[in-house]
Amino acid sequence: MSKPSRREFIKSSLITASAFIFSGTFLKSLTVFAKEVKSAPLPEGEKKLDEADAVAKALGFHHNAKDTDFVRYPQRKKPEAKNQFCKNCALYAPKNDGWGKCQMLTNGLVSAEGWCGSWSKKA
Ligand code: SF4
Repeated sequence: MSKPSRREFIKSSLITASAFIFSGTFLKSLTVFAKEVKSAPLPEGEKKLDEADAVAKALGFHHNAKDTDFVRYPQRKKPEAKNQFCKNCALYAPKNDGWGKCQMLTNGLVSAEGWCGSWSKKA
């Protein structure tokens, strides 16, 4: 068996590197696509609640439950709380797949994937 030439080695290294870079880029674009599919557009004429809203801040609200301050709300990190989102809160009324009205936070729509310290289980 002959030893691979320097040219063949460089060629196969470039192919491997390209494949690696492409797979990373491809996976990244899939992730972006998944996020875009997940977040529905705001219903026409509605505005998104500002997380800086005084009541929102007081309740520790975030449009993405993953942004919750887990030091302030350690209960949200418990396994039994993993499905707590606005979309399944008793105080949430959906406007579309991604957005809805909250009875506590009335200065805009909240994301279905949000959470705050007043989350309540539906009866
Ligand atoms: S009360 Fe419920 S619907 Fe309103 S922000 Fe908190 S978790 Fe979301």
